[in-house]
Amino acid sequence: MSIILKTPREVEKMRAAGKVTAGALALAAGLIRPGVTTGVLDTAIEEFIRSRGGIPTFKGYRQFPASACISVNEEVVHGIPGPRTLQEGDIVTVDVGVTLDGYIGDSAWTWGVGRISTKAQRLLKATRESLFLAIEQMRPGSRLSQVSRAVQNYAEASGFGVVRKFAGHGLGKDLHEEPQVPNYVDRLTPGNDIELKAGMVLAIEPMLTEGDYDVRTLEDNWTVVTKDRKLSAHFEHTVAITSGGHEILTTDQERT
Ligand code: MG
Ligand code: MG
Repeated sequence: MSIILKTPREVEKMRAAGKVTAGALALAAGLIRPGVTTGVLDTAIEEFIRSRGGIPTFKGYRQFPASACISVNEEVVHGIPGPRTLQEGDIVTVDVGVTLDGYIGDSAWTWGVGRISTKAQRLLKATRESLFLAIEQMRPGSRLSQVSRAVQNYAEASGFGVVRKFAGHGLGKDLHEEPQVPNYVDRLTPGNDIELKAGMVLAIEPMLTEGDYDVRTLEDNWTVVTKDRKLSAHFEHTVAITSGGHEILTTDQERT
């Protein structure tokens, strides 16, 4: 396994890309309401990214046709934006990648559209919490499995499933670098476990399900849905390991 460590200069570039990524998600958050189409969200996101000098990383990636992945309700990841109109009670995940000056930010968030069910609220909260619990584990000397286990323990204790088929990942100049960051641990984990080091940059992205964690891909070859068609949520941040711990790069907050 070859993990590309980033220099402070590279982390600085990833921080700039992350800031645009966060801005695009904040813009999307402000537009989400009953009656808006996912295509309108995608266009606004693309315009925002380009206005900041960035490139939407996902557009054209393995022929993906849009700038953001937008996944509604039972859609887990990789939903293709288009004419679909958001309805009151839906949950919608927006996943954005931004390339700025050659470096990438990758972040996702799930929002409710108008009023959502208590169960959906619980799913969103548990997924978001599992992300931040995982990030808390990130410091030099930690094991990657601590990050994975933090997601799984919290998700399962909350009564939700953890999607196995997709994982977080290293990133930098490329959207997907080593290592993979699974959201669960299994008997294969011990031999594959790695120690976190300053300069690693990882996208942490738990995907939780209301029911079973099994997924399937629809005929568009992109959209991944839960097999039982129950709800799924997805939260993601790009995080750098620093000498003192970690730094979330996909945020608009200034950090010292
Ligand atoms: Mg993403
Ligand atoms: Mg990602």
